[in-house]
Amino acid sequence: MIIHVDMDAFYASVEIREQPELATLPVVVGGREGRGVVAAANYVARKYGVRSAMPISQAKQRCKELVCLPVRMPLYIEASQQIHDVFNRYTPEIEPLSLDEAFLDVTASEHLFKNAENIGRMIKRDILKQTQLVCSVGIAENKYVAKIASDINKPDGFVYVSAEKQQSFLDPLPVSRLWGAGKVAQQKFRQYGIETIADVRRQSDVFMQSIFGKLGLHFLDLANGRDKRSVSPERKTKSISHETTFEQDVDNIEVLRACLTDLCEQVTARLRAKNYKAKTLGIKLRYPDFKTITRSVSLTEADNVTDIFLDKAVALFIKARKENRSAIRLIGFAVSGLVKDTGLSDADEADKILAVQADLFGNSKEPANKRKTEIDQIADKVNQRFGKKTVRRGRSYRI
Ligand SMILES: [Mg+2]
Repeated sequence: MIIHVDMDAFYASVEIREQPELATLPVVVGGREGRGVVAAANYVARKYGVRSAMPISQAKQRCKELVCLPVRMPLYIEASQQIHDVFNRYTPEIEPLSLDEAFLDVTASEHLFKNAENIGRMIKRDILKQTQLVCSVGIAENKYVAKIASDINKPDGFVYVSAEKQQSFLDPLPVSRLWGAGKVAQQKFRQYGIETIADVRRQSDVFMQSIFGKLGLHFLDLANGRDKRSVSPERKTKSISHETTFEQDVDNIEVLRACLTDLCEQVTARLRAKNYKAKTLGIKLRYPDFKTITRSVSLTEADNVTDIFLDKAVALFIKARKENRSAIRLIGFAVSGLVKDTGLSDADEADKILAVQADLFGNSKEPANKRKTEIDQIADKVNQRFGKKTVRRGRSYRI
């Protein structure tokens, strides 16, 4: 059996845990001074129509009393690690999807803890005990159904779908629940009067293929509850990425750059938390017509200093804007080519030697890179330890 665990309003919930007096107020994490975008919204804010990836200014229009808090990535990483420690008590087969979401294959450990349903309950209980945070849990035979199950009763959901009940669970759901059915596909379904998963299931292979091509067969599989994807544990991290989908397309360059800065800070903070350096960075942009481009560039040497990645990311972004000025639906930032940070790179070594040599001539200088690394380390520490005043890059909001 597969368990999908998804934390509820994760960043916002961590902040409210730190400042419980905010619990009854509409809270978002992600912006200051009316700029930037919402990274997470608590459920009180969602009642006002505030959503993730919405520009803060728009969120404030919808909810005048909105409390906006800055992102404190180190805190969320710490909570995420505690959550993963809980997972590890029950299975090593863990596939993280993001800081607050993971698939667990508990097939091999089910009998040790009675059954999968019981494991799900223990995980929910342990996470609450360990982190004072609430999650939603979905349990099913495969990833597809488990993910729907965790989502359908959010927040504080717990849905177990036995093999026998799987089809009756899926049948009444709308076609938008089919993984991969975006707006275009949904419209096509509507054209043919196909509204629910049960409706999809009644269609033939030939018909589905004629309408959707290969995707048609994939939809048929899902509608019948067939999903062969296995849980693939993150044995070795290959890349780290973050992306934001805007609820409404954004063409305000300041919002886009602030968002890219946020993403870059979040990704590089994760790099440092995992003790990695990365050699390559890339941006991803999706336009309103769903056309998606990626642009990447490699550093001369692996690094984890935020400013170094940010400069390159902004350069890639500006270049891409020159090629295509249309509004943006999604923006993403990723790093890859990860290597363990041994604390000393070749360049640091070289810098040290140079510094010593320079010293011989009485003009020793601290390598510039080292200073930047120290700034990042201090920022990470301050953000982690001291609650309310956090260190962020000013230009994330003043561009
Ligand atoms: Mg979540």
